[in-house]
Amino acid sequence: MTDIIVIGAGVAGMTAALNALRNGKTVLILEQETLGGQISFSPRVENFPTITQITGMELADRLYEQVTALGAEVELEKVERIEQQGNVFNVISEDDKSFTARSVIIATGVKSRRFTIPGEEELEGKGISYCALCDGAFYKGQEVALIGDGNTALQYAILLSSYCPKVYVCTLFDKFFGDKALVKVLETKENIEVVHNISAIRFEGESELTGVTFKRQDNSEFTLNVKACFVAIGQVPKNEAFKNIVDLDNEGYIISNETCATRTLGVFAAGDCRTKDVRQLTTAASDGAVAGYAASQYIDQNF
Ligand SMILES: Cc1cc2nc3c(=O)[nH]c(=O)nc-3n(C[C@H](O)[C@H](O)[C@H](O)COP(=O)(O)OP(=O)(O)OC[C@H]3O[C@@H](n4cnc5c(N)ncnc54)[C@H](O)[C@@H]3O)c2cc1C
Repeated sequence: MTDIIVIGAGVAGMTAALNALRNGKTVLILEQETLGGQISFSPRVENFPTITQITGMELADRLYEQVTALGAEVELEKVERIEQQGNVFNVISEDDKSFTARSVIIATGVKSRRFTIPGEEELEGKGISYCALCDGAFYKGQEVALIGDGNTALQYAILLSSYCPKVYVCTLFDKFFGDKALVKVLETKENIEVVHNISAIRFEGESELTGVTFKRQDNSEFTLNVKACFVAIGQVPKNEAFKNIVDLDNEGYIISNETCATRTLGVFAAGDCRTKDVRQLTTAASDGAVAGYAASQYIDQNF
C-alpha cells in the first residue's frame, strides 16, 4: 500500500510528489509515456522563475532527479481506471496491474489537438508550435502563420502581431468563433492577414519547417513559406477514464476546488487536466504543490 499514487509524471504530478514526500508520505508515480510530460517537447523555456533559459527536457530531468532522490517510485504504466474500495483506491493499469493507495492525485495534463497531417509529427518543436505564449518570441521579426479560429487563436495572433512583421491567420471557415471584442482588436492590426476557408494539408520541411501547404475550397493548393506555424485548434484533456470518480466539465476537464480536491474525498486533480484559466508550467507546479499538500493532510486526518 502506497500513501499516494500520482497519475502523470508531468510538472504537476512530479511537484505533487515532491510536496507529498516532504510531508513524509510514500509516493508512486505512474506515467504512461514521457517522464516530464508536455514540457519535454519544448526546446526552450524562458518563463520559469529563477531559470533564464532551459530546455524542457533538462527541466523535466532535474525535477525527476529531485523527486526520485527523495524516494518517489516511478513506474511506466498507463492508468485505465480508478476503483474505490472502502477508504482506499485501486489504480488499475492497461496491463491489468493493480496499485493500492490511500489517496490519488490525477495529473494527466492535456494534449494539444493535432491535425495528423504529413510533416506535423516530424516538425513539432522545429517550427510547429502549439503555444505562441511560450514559443512566439523565438520568431520575433519573422513572418509566421497561425491556424485556428477560436479565442486562443485570436489571442495568439494579436500577441504575435506585436513582434512579427506579418502574421497569416488561417481559418477553416469564413469567420472566427471567438469573442467579438478580440475579433475587433485583430481587425485593427495591419500586419495580420486573415485567410478564410482553407485547410492545412501538409507541413513542409526536412529538419526545420519551411512552409505550410493549404487547400482552398475549390481544391486548389498553395503554400505559405513561413518558418513558424502556430496551431491553436483546441486542446484535448485525457480524463474520460476517471469520470466514475471525478466530475468533468463540458470540455472534459476535471472540476476541483482551491485545494485541488475533486468530488471524491481523497482524490485530487493538479495541472493542465483540471478546469482553470492559465495552463502553464508555473500553474502546473502550483497545483502540484497544493494537491501534494492537501493529499498529505487528507491522509493525516483520515488514517
Ligand atoms: C511544445 C510546448 C511548449 C511549451 N512551452 C512552455 C513554456 O515555455 N512555458 C510554460 O510555462 N509552459 C509551456 N508549455 C505548457 C506546459 O508544458 C504545460 O502547461 C505543463 O507542462 C503542464 O503540466 P502537467 O503536469 O499539468 O501536464 P503534462 O505535462 O501534460 O503531464 C501529464 C502527464 O500525464 C501522463 N498521462 C496522461 N494520461 C495518463 C494515464 N492515463 N496514465 C499514466 N500517465 C498519463 C502524460 O503522458 C504526461 O506525461 C508548453 C507546452 C508545449 C506542448
